Amino acid sequence: MTKTIWLDRKTTLIMRKRLAENAAMKNASKKYEGKREEMVRSQIEARGIREPGVLSAFRQVPRHLFVSEALRDQAYGDYPLPIGEQQTISQPYIVAEMTQALELGQDDRVLEIGTGSGYQAAILAQIVYRVYTVERRRSLYMQARTLFDKLHYHNIVTKYADGTKGWQAESPFDAIIVTAGAPEIPEVLINQLVEGGRLVVPVGNQHTQELIKIYREKGNIQQTNLGGCRFVKLVGEHGWKEQ
Ligand code: SAH
Repeated sequence: MTKTIWLDRKTTLIMRKRLAENAAMKNASKKYEGKREEMVRSQIEARGIREPGVLSAFRQVPRHLFVSEALRDQAYGDYPLPIGEQQTISQPYIVAEMTQALELGQDDRVLEIGTGSGYQAAILAQIVYRVYTVERRRSLYMQARTLFDKLHYHNIVTKYADGTKGWQAESPFDAIIVTAGAPEIPEVLINQLVEGGRLVVPVGNQHTQELIKIYREKGNIQQTNLGGCRFVKLVGEHGWKEQ
Protein backbone atom coordinates (compact mmCIF):
# COMPACT_ATOMS: atom_id res chain seq x y z
CA MET A 1 0.00 0.00 0.00
CA THR A 2 1.36 3.42 -0.87
CA LYS A 3 0.92 6.26 1.49
CA THR A 4 0.60 9.81 0.25
CA ILE A 5 2.74 12.30 2.14
CA TRP A 6 1.63 15.89 1.80
CA LEU A 7 4.51 18.33 1.95
CA ASP A 8 4.01 21.79 3.32
CA ARG A 9 4.52 24.70 0.98
CA LYS A 10 7.97 25.60 2.20
CA THR A 11 9.31 22.05 1.80
CA THR A 12 7.82 21.83 -1.69
CA LEU A 13 9.56 25.04 -2.70
CA ILE A 14 12.89 23.84 -1.31
CA MET A 15 12.56 20.54 -3.14
CA ARG A 16 11.68 22.28 -6.40
CA LYS A 17 14.71 24.52 -6.04
CA ARG A 18 16.94 21.47 -5.47
CA LEU A 19 15.54 19.72 -8.54
CA ALA A 20 16.16 22.85 -10.61
CA GLU A 21 19.72 23.10 -9.28
CA ASN A 22 20.42 19.47 -10.11
CA ALA A 23 19.03 19.88 -13.60
CA ALA A 24 21.16 23.01 -14.11
CA MET A 25 24.28 21.16 -12.95
CA LYS A 26 23.55 18.25 -15.31
CA ASN A 27 23.04 20.62 -18.24
CA ALA A 28 26.25 22.45 -17.41
CA SER A 29 28.13 19.13 -17.19
CA LYS A 30 26.95 18.25 -20.72
CA LYS A 31 28.08 21.61 -21.97
CA TYR A 32 31.55 21.14 -20.51
CA GLU A 33 32.03 17.51 -21.56
CA GLY A 34 33.03 18.51 -25.09
CA LYS A 35 35.44 21.15 -23.86
CA ARG A 36 37.02 18.62 -21.51
CA GLU A 37 37.57 16.05 -24.26
CA GLU A 38 39.09 18.76 -26.45
CA MET A 39 41.44 19.76 -23.58
CA VAL A 40 42.61 16.15 -23.14
CA ARG A 41 43.29 15.71 -26.85
CA SER A 42 44.87 19.02 -27.79
CA GLN A 43 46.73 19.94 -24.60
CA ILE A 44 47.57 16.65 -22.91
CA GLU A 45 47.70 13.76 -25.40
CA ALA A 46 49.15 15.95 -28.15
CA ARG A 47 52.04 16.89 -25.87
CA GLY A 48 52.98 13.31 -25.16
CA ILE A 49 51.14 12.27 -21.98
CA ARG A 50 50.33 8.59 -22.60
CA GLU A 51 49.64 7.01 -19.20
CA PRO A 52 46.05 5.61 -19.47
CA GLY A 53 45.24 6.22 -15.79
CA VAL A 54 46.25 9.88 -16.08
CA LEU A 55 44.25 10.45 -19.28
CA SER A 56 41.18 8.78 -17.86
CA ALA A 57 41.39 10.91 -14.68
CA PHE A 58 41.45 14.09 -16.79
CA ARG A 59 38.40 12.89 -18.70
CA GLN A 60 36.50 12.42 -15.46
CA VAL A 61 37.26 15.35 -13.14
CA PRO A 62 34.89 18.31 -13.81
CA ARG A 63 37.56 21.05 -13.85
CA HIS A 64 34.91 23.80 -14.30
CA LEU A 65 33.65 23.13 -10.76
CA PHE A 66 37.09 23.91 -9.30
CA VAL A 67 37.02 27.57 -10.42
CA SER A 68 34.62 30.38 -9.57
CA GLU A 69 31.40 30.66 -11.57
CA ALA A 70 32.67 33.69 -13.47
CA LEU A 71 35.62 31.67 -14.82
CA ARG A 72 33.77 28.42 -15.69
CA ASP A 73 33.87 29.02 -19.45
CA GLN A 74 37.65 29.40 -19.29
CA ALA A 75 38.23 26.36 -17.08
CA TYR A 76 39.38 24.11 -19.94
CA GLY A 77 41.75 26.68 -21.46
CA ASP A 78 45.49 26.12 -21.86
CA TYR A 79 46.51 28.34 -18.94
CA PRO A 80 46.39 28.71 -15.14
CA LEU A 81 43.49 30.66 -13.57
CA PRO A 82 43.12 32.68 -10.37
CA ILE A 83 41.35 30.95 -7.46
CA GLY A 84 41.43 33.86 -4.96
CA GLU A 85 43.95 34.77 -2.23
CA GLN A 86 46.46 35.47 -5.05
CA GLN A 87 46.73 31.74 -5.72
CA THR A 88 46.16 29.83 -8.97
CA ILE A 89 44.89 26.52 -10.33
CA SER A 90 47.69 25.21 -12.56
CA GLN A 91 47.49 24.88 -16.34
CA PRO A 92 45.99 21.45 -17.20
CA TYR A 93 49.16 20.23 -18.95
CA ILE A 94 51.41 20.91 -15.94
CA VAL A 95 48.98 18.98 -13.70
CA ALA A 96 49.16 16.08 -16.19
CA GLU A 97 52.95 16.20 -16.47
CA MET A 98 53.43 16.18 -12.69
CA THR A 99 50.84 13.43 -12.21
CA GLN A 100 52.49 11.19 -14.81
CA ALA A 101 55.93 11.84 -13.28
CA LEU A 102 54.67 10.44 -9.94
CA GLU A 103 54.40 6.95 -11.57
CA LEU A 104 51.27 6.13 -9.58
CA GLY A 105 49.79 2.73 -8.79
CA GLN A 106 46.23 2.09 -7.65
CA ASP A 107 47.24 1.08 -4.12
CA ASP A 108 49.39 4.17 -3.56
CA ARG A 109 49.00 6.70 -0.77
CA VAL A 110 49.94 10.15 -2.02
CA LEU A 111 50.66 13.41 -0.22
CA GLU A 112 50.01 16.78 -1.88
CA ILE A 113 51.31 20.07 -0.49
CA GLY A 114 49.14 23.01 -1.62
CA THR A 115 45.50 21.93 -2.02
CA GLY A 116 44.47 25.25 -3.63
CA SER A 117 41.34 24.65 -5.71
CA GLY A 118 41.52 20.90 -5.04
CA TYR A 119 41.79 20.01 -8.74
CA GLN A 120 45.16 18.25 -8.56
CA ALA A 121 43.99 16.27 -5.51
CA ALA A 122 40.84 15.18 -7.38
CA ILE A 123 42.94 14.00 -10.34
CA LEU A 124 45.13 11.99 -7.96
CA ALA A 125 42.06 10.59 -6.18
CA GLN A 126 40.83 9.08 -9.45
CA ILE A 127 44.05 7.10 -9.77
CA VAL A 128 45.25 6.07 -6.31
CA TYR A 129 43.93 4.53 -3.10
CA ARG A 130 44.14 7.61 -0.92
CA VAL A 131 45.20 11.25 -1.19
CA TYR A 132 46.40 13.40 1.72
CA THR A 133 46.44 17.10 0.95
CA VAL A 134 47.61 20.07 3.04
CA GLU A 135 46.72 23.76 2.58
CA ARG A 136 47.91 26.74 4.65
CA ARG A 137 45.18 29.20 3.64
CA ARG A 138 42.03 28.60 5.59
CA SER A 139 39.47 29.81 3.04
CA LEU A 140 40.98 27.65 0.27
CA TYR A 141 41.16 24.65 2.59
CA MET A 142 37.45 25.03 3.52
CA GLN A 143 36.30 25.57 -0.06
CA ALA A 144 38.18 22.50 -1.30
CA ARG A 145 36.88 20.31 1.54
CA THR A 146 33.29 21.32 0.78
CA LEU A 147 33.78 20.55 -2.91
CA PHE A 148 35.38 17.12 -2.23
CA ASP A 149 32.35 16.18 -0.13
CA LYS A 150 29.91 17.45 -2.73
CA LEU A 151 31.62 15.46 -5.49
CA HIS A 152 32.00 12.39 -3.24
CA TYR A 153 35.78 12.29 -3.16
CA HIS A 154 35.82 10.25 0.04
CA ASN A 155 39.41 9.10 -0.47
CA ILE A 156 40.81 12.62 -0.05
CA VAL A 157 41.97 13.52 3.45
CA THR A 158 42.51 17.25 4.03
CA LYS A 159 44.52 19.19 6.58
CA TYR A 160 44.83 22.90 7.35
CA ALA A 161 48.52 23.30 8.20
CA ASP A 162 52.00 24.26 7.00
CA GLY A 163 52.72 21.50 4.49
CA THR A 164 56.47 22.13 4.33
CA LYS A 165 56.64 19.82 7.35
CA GLY A 166 54.87 17.07 5.41
CA TRP A 167 52.42 14.85 7.30
CA GLN A 168 54.56 12.84 9.70
CA ALA A 169 51.71 10.90 11.33
CA GLU A 170 50.54 9.46 8.00
CA SER A 171 54.00 8.92 6.50
CA PRO A 172 55.65 7.20 4.69
CA PHE A 173 53.99 7.96 1.33
CA ASP A 174 54.46 6.26 -2.04
CA ALA A 175 54.55 9.64 -3.73
CA ILE A 176 54.63 13.32 -2.72
CA ILE A 177 53.72 16.27 -4.94
CA VAL A 178 54.41 19.90 -4.07
CA THR A 179 52.27 22.34 -6.06
CA ALA A 180 53.99 25.56 -4.93
CA GLY A 181 57.53 26.76 -5.66
CA ALA A 182 60.16 25.80 -3.04
CA PRO A 183 63.49 27.63 -2.50
CA GLU A 184 65.28 24.28 -2.26
CA ILE A 185 64.52 20.54 -2.34
CA PRO A 186 62.62 19.88 0.91
CA GLU A 187 64.66 17.31 2.85
CA VAL A 188 61.78 16.75 5.32
CA LEU A 189 59.58 15.46 2.51
CA ILE A 190 62.20 13.06 1.12
CA ASN A 191 62.30 11.51 4.60
CA GLN A 192 58.54 10.87 4.43
CA LEU A 193 58.83 8.72 1.28
CA VAL A 194 58.86 4.92 1.24
CA GLU A 195 61.85 3.21 -0.38
CA GLY A 196 61.01 3.41 -4.06
CA GLY A 197 58.97 6.57 -3.43
CA ARG A 198 58.78 9.56 -5.79
CA LEU A 199 58.74 13.30 -5.02
CA VAL A 200 57.91 15.98 -7.61
CA VAL A 201 58.60 19.58 -6.60
CA PRO A 202 59.15 22.92 -8.36
CA VAL A 203 62.44 24.41 -7.06
CA GLY A 204 63.88 27.84 -7.82
CA ASN A 205 63.46 31.54 -7.10
CA GLN A 206 60.16 33.36 -6.62
CA HIS A 207 59.61 33.96 -10.34
CA THR A 208 60.69 30.77 -12.07
CA GLN A 209 61.48 27.21 -11.04
CA GLU A 210 62.65 23.87 -12.39
CA LEU A 211 60.42 20.85 -11.92
CA ILE A 212 62.53 18.36 -9.98
CA LYS A 213 61.76 14.68 -9.61
CA ILE A 214 63.38 12.73 -6.80
CA TYR A 215 63.46 8.97 -6.65
CA ARG A 216 64.32 7.43 -3.28
CA GLU A 217 65.88 3.99 -3.45
CA LYS A 218 67.76 2.08 -0.75
CA GLY A 219 68.61 5.31 1.00
CA ASN A 220 69.98 6.77 -2.24
CA ILE A 221 68.49 9.74 -4.01
CA GLN A 222 68.14 9.93 -7.78
CA GLN A 223 67.32 13.36 -9.17
CA THR A 224 66.03 14.42 -12.60
CA ASN A 225 65.08 17.81 -14.00
CA LEU A 226 61.79 17.84 -15.92
CA GLY A 227 62.14 21.44 -17.13
CA GLY A 228 61.06 24.99 -16.33
CA CYS A 229 57.80 25.96 -14.66
CA ARG A 230 56.18 28.78 -12.73
CA PHE A 231 54.33 28.38 -9.44
CA VAL A 232 53.22 30.58 -6.57
CA LYS A 233 55.45 30.52 -3.49
CA LEU A 234 55.63 27.66 -1.02
CA VAL A 235 55.44 29.59 2.26
CA GLY A 236 56.32 27.97 5.57
CA GLU A 237 58.94 26.73 7.97
CA HIS A 238 60.90 24.86 5.28
CA GLY A 239 59.86 27.15 2.42
CA TRP A 240 59.87 30.89 1.78
CA LYS A 241 59.37 33.12 4.77
CA GLU A 242 56.19 35.18 4.83
CA GLN A 243 56.80 38.86 3.94
N1 SAH B 1 47.28 22.07 -6.42
C1 SAH B 1 46.55 23.31 -6.53
C2 SAH B 1 47.46 24.46 -6.92
C3 SAH B 1 47.37 25.47 -5.87
S1 SAH B 1 48.46 26.86 -5.93
C4 SAH B 1 45.36 23.17 -7.47
O1 SAH B 1 45.19 22.11 -8.11
O2 SAH B 1 44.56 24.10 -7.55
C5 SAH B 1 49.47 26.52 -4.53
C6 SAH B 1 48.78 26.40 -3.20
O3 SAH B 1 49.81 26.08 -2.25
C7 SAH B 1 48.12 27.66 -2.70
O4 SAH B 1 46.78 27.38 -2.39
C8 SAH B 1 48.92 28.03 -1.44
O5 SAH B 1 48.14 28.63 -0.43
C9 SAH B 1 49.45 26.68 -1.02
N2 SAH B 1 50.62 26.70 -0.15
C10 SAH B 1 51.70 27.51 -0.19
N3 SAH B 1 52.56 27.20 0.80
C11 SAH B 1 52.00 26.15 1.49
C12 SAH B 1 52.40 25.39 2.63
N4 SAH B 1 53.54 25.62 3.28
N5 SAH B 1 51.58 24.40 3.06
C13 SAH B 1 50.40 24.14 2.42
N6 SAH B 1 49.98 24.85 1.35
C14 SAH B 1 50.77 25.83 0.89
